[in-house]
Amino acid sequence: MSELHQLSVAELARRLREKKVSAVETAQHFLGRMAAHQDLAAFVDVNEAATLAQARAADAAIAAGSAGPLAGVPIAHKDIFVTKDFASTAGSKMLAGYRSPFDATVVARLGPGTPGGPAGAGAVTLGKLSCDEFAMGSANESVAVPAVGHSAPTPVRNPWDTGRVAGGSSGGSAAAVAARLAPATSGTDTGGSIRQPASFCGITGIKPTYGRASRYGMIAYASSLDQAGPMARSAEDCALLLSAMCGPDLDRDSTSLDVPVEDFSRTLNDKLDGLRIGIPKEFFGAGLAADVRAAIDGALKDYEKLGAKLVEISLPRTELAIPVYYIIAPAEASSNLSRFDGVKFGHRAKDYSDLLEMYKKSRAEGFGDEVKRRIMVGTYVLSHGYYDAYYLQAQKIRKLIADDFQQAFKQCDVIAGPVAPSVAWSLGDKTDDPVAAYLADIYTLPASLAGLPGMSVPAGFGAGGMPVGLQLIGNYLQEAKLLNMAHRLQQATDFHLRTPEGF
Ligand code: GLN
Repeated sequence: MSELHQLSVAELARRLREKKVSAVETAQHFLGRMAAHQDLAAFVDVNEAATLAQARAADAAIAAGSAGPLAGVPIAHKDIFVTKDFASTAGSKMLAGYRSPFDATVVARLGPGTPGGPAGAGAVTLGKLSCDEFAMGSANESVAVPAVGHSAPTPVRNPWDTGRVAGGSSGGSAAAVAARLAPATSGTDTGGSIRQPASFCGITGIKPTYGRASRYGMIAYASSLDQAGPMARSAEDCALLLSAMCGPDLDRDSTSLDVPVEDFSRTLNDKLDGLRIGIPKEFFGAGLAADVRAAIDGALKDYEKLGAKLVEISLPRTELAIPVYYIIAPAEASSNLSRFDGVKFGHRAKDYSDLLEMYKKSRAEGFGDEVKRRIMVGTYVLSHGYYDAYYLQAQKIRKLIADDFQQAFKQCDVIAGPVAPSVAWSLGDKTDDPVAAYLADIYTLPASLAGLPGMSVPAGFGAGGMPVGLQLIGNYLQEAKLLNMAHRLQQATDFHLRTPEGF
């Protein structure tokens, strides 16, 4: 069945359940596509034997009538989630070849379930997807492990134009869905890493409210911001995955929210009549490229036709989100990454004369430039004498940014704007200028700092025929509303169905 990769997750799950196609056949089809498109450098690990064993288990569960809702649906995971059957590297030389003894909660919930715990949704893992090292980046160019079929580390290519970046840090996750190498993937978003690559690759992605999905087994970058979410072609598919991956996990992640599991598919078709969409004026300033603006304006007009009302709002501290995030995230990273010392796990230098030298050499060799930059910034802002001036100030402003959203939500039900100021840039364009890359995070950082759910929905195409994503931001736990809005737009448009040439 050559068209399997064109099917939605919902349709594929149905055909598998009705035994019109087997999980093994489906897995083989996608493994074949992955092998044929290694040039994209989307995957950093595959394990065909493990994938096929999972597929056989899915077929057995379907035959026995005990299958989960995603039984046999192939998915792939960002290499920031630890997995038993595949290497778990976070894109870093520090963890090259590392094998985890357990699956992250998100992986278990989507797939086989937790041993001795609740059953999983039954999805089959195709492999691990490239990401920026420790999820630090917005272009997936800062990766230190080779992709499958490559002998040296290489950036992920954007399937819409292989001379451009796929976005980051979940660039592999976005490129794989856009190129139909997987029906859906997992990603993580600390400051935009689900939304921005989804926007750059023309797919749909949602970062739920902080705490909705367990962080257990997600290699930590900035713990107060890190959040997992699904990336797929449509909102309908994202709803299926999000319903399976969320839920309390209090024994393993104390910041996981104690709210019941929701079926996010239930309200996809709700009407949007009278819905108030807040348009933050700060998201439409001089920094926004004209082609992106035109696509966003088009989507907002579509929402008016669907019965929604546009309301101008203000998020006055939008610009401050950049300095605040680039203090808090590195501060947390510097602490989280101190565990990589060459002793407990990860890379260890070969020659050293004493313990201190072993630490120094192992870390100098194991971490890439961007990671080192952030560890240094983070250590500095937390150090005695600078803590009050930087870290404490940033925490205070973070609270004000969250308050601004609550003010805005008095006037509107959801917020809409661009995901990124431009379409995907050319490979290498911002590699020598990290600050230019940081500035491009301006529209995604505020929701991350506030812990709010955010989504990217394909809204058209801009310069060079590159995709543009519309960002939707909801109040806490309003994921269902965002998915409903996205689904409604996707019923009225076909941007999410278009495929890059050659895929
Ligand atoms: N670009 C941002 C950063 O480099 C966000 C990354 C992310 O969300 N993981 O920190």
